Amino acid sequence: MNVVVMKFGGTSVNTPERREEAARRVQATVESGRWPVVVVSAMGRRGEPYATDSLLDLVGRDGMMPERDLDLLAACGEIISAVVMSYHLRRHGLDPIPLTGWQAGIVTDDTFGNAIITRVDTSRLTRHLENRRIPVITGFQGMTPDGEIATLGRGGSDTTAAAVGAALHAEVVEIYTDVDGVKTADPRLVPEARTIDEVAYSEIWQMAHAGAKVVHPRAVEIAMAESIPVRVLDTTGKGTGTLITAHPNNGTGVFSEQRLRRPVTAVTYLGGVAQLRVRAPDHQDRSLEVFESLAQAGISVDLINVSENGQTFTVSEAVAERAEKILAGLGFSVEVVADCAKVSVVGLGMRGVPGVMAKVVRALHGAGVPILQTSDSHLTISCLVPGNLVKAAVQALHSEFQLGQG
Ligand code: ADP
Ligand code: MG
Repeated sequence: MNVVVMKFGGTSVNTPERREEAARRVQATVESGRWPVVVVSAMGRRGEPYATDSLLDLVGRDGMMPERDLDLLAACGEIISAVVMSYHLRRHGLDPIPLTGWQAGIVTDDTFGNAIITRVDTSRLTRHLENRRIPVITGFQGMTPDGEIATLGRGGSDTTAAAVGAALHAEVVEIYTDVDGVKTADPRLVPEARTIDEVAYSEIWQMAHAGAKVVHPRAVEIAMAESIPVRVLDTTGKGTGTLITAHPNNGTGVFSEQRLRRPVTAVTYLGGVAQLRVRAPDHQDRSLEVFESLAQAGISVDLINVSENGQTFTVSEAVAERAEKILAGLGFSVEVVADCAKVSVVGLGMRGVPGVMAKVVRALHGAGVPILQTSDSHLTISCLVPGNLVKAAVQALHSEFQLGQG
């Protein structure tokens, strides 16, 4: 049986019309002779009644509630969505079986709120498939070895889809969303962003880590490990979307002329970060103490520069104050630059191509965007910029690398 995992995101199931549209897609898969396994997110975004954030807003975010209980609440949105989606599938003459994550055999560790799928027990899913039923699985959640419900963190339904796809050796994992594929930039910032036909796992993974939330990075890791192709598609059926694979462009991928002409594939951004500039009063090198104390507090750091003058790095804005307090408590002087954003250019084609950094700097200077810090890897160049200039920065980079042109 050729299984196709079809994951529908929150905005693809939030109105009866969209759910009908999704049901038609599932029906089309059946008609194509393949078997769908559906994964759904909670319906809609904050403000809509059954969205995950709306449910969490029912209780205070004042630290009163145990993580375990919050996860139980957060998991409800997908359960509602799976049952409601099953209704629409029935209207199309199909035979769905809505399943919670645990009913679908998804086992996680016990990191509530950000759990990792450790394994998928496919026995129950396989039985339903043998009986020619269409599983409709709640995304974003699974069960811990202790029998507790744990959620997978934002974007976690993508991870559910990839894990189920890998466990069932699916032909493809299809991610249905509100854009027609992976684009050269977030269309909310760059309306002329172009949809990319094919992209390598490694590129989309970098993009996802650098802020492009169109696919969750963990989902990419799972799909990559099992070589399962992923396709990102618009639920309304526009175009053929983006194929994520190990070998873009039929294997010619990175070496094609187009790639050389265009070393960068996409521009991404990640807002809500703060820069910390840490100095020891006596100019001693106390880097180890800085990073160990933050690690002990569970604070992860990014864009790290260590020099004889001290340590400069970024943390999520949400934990900046806590980080500052910890370091000040150890006698460091800490300067915090709040409201920053990281903008990144990502592309397999930039490897070994000279002049990419020069173009990045030219674009940002031309747009009047100061660069507070940079970092690079072989697939990515990232710059820290003031948060209020993120749109100007992304647009400038997008046009400097001519990403809008096909
Ligand atoms: P879903 O609820 O379907 O999972 P998400 O909001 O998680 O949808 O992801 C889709 C959104 O990702 C789009 O609406 C778009 O604004 C945003 N996005 C950011 N970067 C990109 C990109 N490079 N390509 C496509 N979409 C992007
Ligand atoms: Mg998502």
